[in-house]
Amino acid sequence: MAGKDTCFIKVNGDVIPCPAFYDLKDWHGGNIEKQKLEYIWRDDKTFDELRRFDYANLKGICGSCSHVNKCQGRCPAARARAYNNIKTGPDPACPAEYFQIHA
Ligand code: SF4
Repeated sequence: MAGKDTCFIKVNGDVIPCPAFYDLKDWHGGNIEKQKLEYIWRDDKTFDELRRFDYANLKGICGSCSHVNKCQGRCPAARARAYNNIKTGPDPACPAEYFQIHA
């Protein structure tokens, strides 16, 4: 899962949780030309927040959706882009929300 067991290094050295965070500057964990990857991975607030995130605490429509144990709120980058945080759902591409079948 993005930021929990994977990261992605952009050509400029910025470290992000996965390619979906490519344009989300607030979710860039650091830059390997300025810091060791080990430090960024272990201590940066971006990766820390993703590791501490528990989908069971999702807010918004996801908070009362019966599918949450299966989808876990879908893509955190999509939620960050839509709501400026990863704690609110749904992912705008959620088919259950689109078809109103999440209850
Ligand atoms: S609303 Fe969509 S993204 Fe949210 S928990 Fe339900 S199925 Fe998942």
